[in-house]
Amino acid sequence: MKPRLSVREYVDGVLSGDRAVLARAITLVESSHPADSDIALDILDECLPHAGKSIRVGITGVPGAGKSSVIDALGTYLTEEQGEKVAVLAVDPSSQISGGSILGDKTRMEKLAVDERAFIRPSPSGGTLGGVARRTRESMLLCEAAGYRNVIVETIGVGQSETAVRTMVDFFLLLAISGAGDELQGMKRGITEMTDLVAVNKADGDNRARAERTRRDYENALHLFPPKATDWTPRAVTCSALTREGIPELWQQAIQHNNQVDITKIRQEQLKTWMHEIIDQGLRDRFQPQIRQLEQEVAANHLTPFRAAQRLLKKFGDTAGKR
Ligand code: GDP
Repeated sequence: MKPRLSVREYVDGVLSGDRAVLARAITLVESSHPADSDIALDILDECLPHAGKSIRVGITGVPGAGKSSVIDALGTYLTEEQGEKVAVLAVDPSSQISGGSILGDKTRMEKLAVDERAFIRPSPSGGTLGGVARRTRESMLLCEAAGYRNVIVETIGVGQSETAVRTMVDFFLLLAISGAGDELQGMKRGITEMTDLVAVNKADGDNRARAERTRRDYENALHLFPPKATDWTPRAVTCSALTREGIPELWQQAIQHNNQVDITKIRQEQLKTWMHEIIDQGLRDRFQPQIRQLEQEVAANHLTPFRAAQRLLKKFGDTAGKR
């Protein structure tokens, strides 16, 4: 193993855009080793003032919708045509179960994986969704401090990870395809409701007309939702990762969104959610044995959930008072 760098070396490396140091700093942030967490916090503290200057876009969609193909196309559009740097991160809490990660396989984003201006990081593995999401959020800030002005956070379109990603990005894109069952993907699970843009992918060849019909269905469905607090009206478009048609427009939509909405307020919300996550996780970690014990008593009907929670909160008050 490489000797650990000093906080200064990590911070300087990240701020100068050194990809190897950035990767190592992220590894520290992802580590669950207590010895790493203090140094990770110091690095984050120093990097945070340099973060926040990017466009943060979340992408979701059922497996096979073409997320990696679209990210590959979108990413290379940004790096090759716009001269931009792009970071791609993933939230996939199932990666600890499958042993792999949705982004673990580099061939998923063939072009971007070998692009000097792109930084791809698979989902952190292990831990709860909250833990995985938190570490992705922190990795995102490090990428921003390293000068990545475009951040894409991918989530596999299953489970609760969309909600977690929604809280860390400015703009949330649902990638859909036509013909994947009758109903519109994402409708049932409330995903469509939290998207800023629906892009019906694979609008190429014989599939073009069908994709356009699906796009119209989504457009109609989007009208049924109440207006967003941010003053943004979500739209549905078509695109093709294969022909790259409509791909630049996806990013243009995100830029337009960030110019139009009160981005300062959105970022404040993101910071607040981040703090809440850390508090929740911290309390859970700290009181884990007691919570387990109380769970058993509640399950056995020895305690009401209300009493159990109260008992724990009282304990928390006692320990907090001693500090
Ligand atoms: P993911 O699981 O959402 O990441 O989907 P992938 O990007 O792996 O794509 C799933 C399959 O759809 C692959 O075989 C891709 O080649 C194909 N695919 C992705 N985008 C397009 C597209 O725009 N047009 C066509 N025709 N095929 C596509």
